[in-house]
Amino acid sequence: MTFKQLGLSEAILKAVEEKGYKTPSPIQAKSIPPILQGRDVLASAQTGTGKTAGFTLPILQRLEESNITKRKAIRALILTPTRELAAQIYDNISEYSKYLDINSTVIFGGVKAGPQIRTLKQGVDILVATPGRLLDLHSQKELFLDKVEVFILDEADRMLDMGFVRDINKIMSLLPSKRQNLMFSATFSPEIKKLAGGILRNPVAVEA
Ligand code: AMP
Repeated sequence: MTFKQLGLSEAILKAVEEKGYKTPSPIQAKSIPPILQGRDVLASAQTGTGKTAGFTLPILQRLEESNITKRKAIRALILTPTRELAAQIYDNISEYSKYLDINSTVIFGGVKAGPQIRTLKQGVDILVATPGRLLDLHSQKELFLDKVEVFILDEADRMLDMGFVRDINKIMSLLPSKRQNLMFSATFSPEIKKLAGGILRNPVAVEA
């Protein structure tokens, strides 16, 4: 299996090649095709399996394919529990999108909001966020979520452990009802299954 066989575009393949990746990891081979098809995906994967590229590469491709208006609105929202994870995902997206006309940024708490707000004002297609700062800036009308086409919940089990379930439900209520949803979790407790049931529609289940 190659990245090309998974259906990724030349611009993405070039960036992936420059990262030094030779073949897709198992989670990438399983998750990239259904995500490219627009399906909801429930993925069981730990950190270290290559899951970040597993969801960011196909999202980049889908956004690029329908990037006709160039009207910058948040089209993909990636929610993750900690600032470290948020920063890592953002770094990955920056590298994978270097040959694409796609803007992304990251917001998290514990730092001043001013610089984050200034970047948001320039217009971003992909926002990586932790829940608290996202809701703060949304309530201040510094960001809008009504154009989100893809919602990704990363490390869903840690989200629940950290007590983010109400924030997640609030954030989902701010998104358009017609959207693609991806959920990643290392474990599947009854609570996680319940959360998945509320987010995903007819999902494809994949395991690393
Ligand atoms: P993740 O599980 O997304 O945190 O990724 C773990 C590490 O694997 C990161 O350092 C990635 O850069 C790297 N990685 C992701 N996909 C591949 C791949 N197909 N081949 C080699 N390394 C990869």
